[in-house]
Amino acid sequence: MPEAKPSRKPAATKRPPRGDLAPDRIAAILKALDEAYPHAECALIHRSPWELLVATILSAQCTDVRVNMVTPELFRRFPTPAAMSKATLPELEALIRTTGFFHNKAKSIQGAARKIIADFGGQVPQTLAELITIPGAARKTANVVLGVCFGKAEGVVVDTHVFRIARRLALAKGETPQKVEQELMRIIPQDRWIAFSHQLIHHGRQVCDARKPKCDRCNLEQLCHSKDKTWQS
Ligand code: SF4
Repeated sequence: MPEAKPSRKPAATKRPPRGDLAPDRIAAILKALDEAYPHAECALIHRSPWELLVATILSAQCTDVRVNMVTPELFRRFPTPAAMSKATLPELEALIRTTGFFHNKAKSIQGAARKIIADFGGQVPQTLAELITIPGAARKTANVVLGVCFGKAEGVVVDTHVFRIARRLALAKGETPQKVEQELMRIIPQDRWIAFSHQLIHHGRQVCDARKPKCDRCNLEQLCHSKDKTWQS
């Protein structure tokens, strides 16, 4: 077989993306978020990885404020995975009823407690691969626990606020949280993943509302070209 002739074309160099995903634009968005939310933190009250895991499972389709109302009594009655693993479903359901979907959530937190006792020596595991084997804990919950409790960024938390705002800012186009997470992981520096999610969640609650975003008081307004904008400078 004849040897391939060396190509005269120089090897293609990877150009930085332009437009919406240009590094300058992303840096400007991150800077604006830092300025607006320098101390953004998880709003779910917790004293341990176990409590945050349970609180995050309960926060599905529910506000953090509501979850914070039920967890003190839940953890007073069942403070550890061992204690919760022995709770009956009716006992758990009665305590978490107001968070909605309480039949499923009771099964999840009871199952999570049993799994942690059976497979992880009673301790919340510290890897994404292990966390997502726990009943009720998908990638979002796992990323929350890893980021907040262990300072580990294995992925980006994509809740309803992050999903909506990432798309409004044209940082992602995916139709599912999983796809948006993959897009964000490609363009946001890994050392910013934890803070970035917290900041977008705060932005979603305070300014970039799902129905009526308050664009006239948004410090990202000049960087945002969303069709959902309610005000243009
Ligand atoms: S300009 Fe409006 S739509 Fe865009 S990020 Fe700000 S609040 Fe959200």
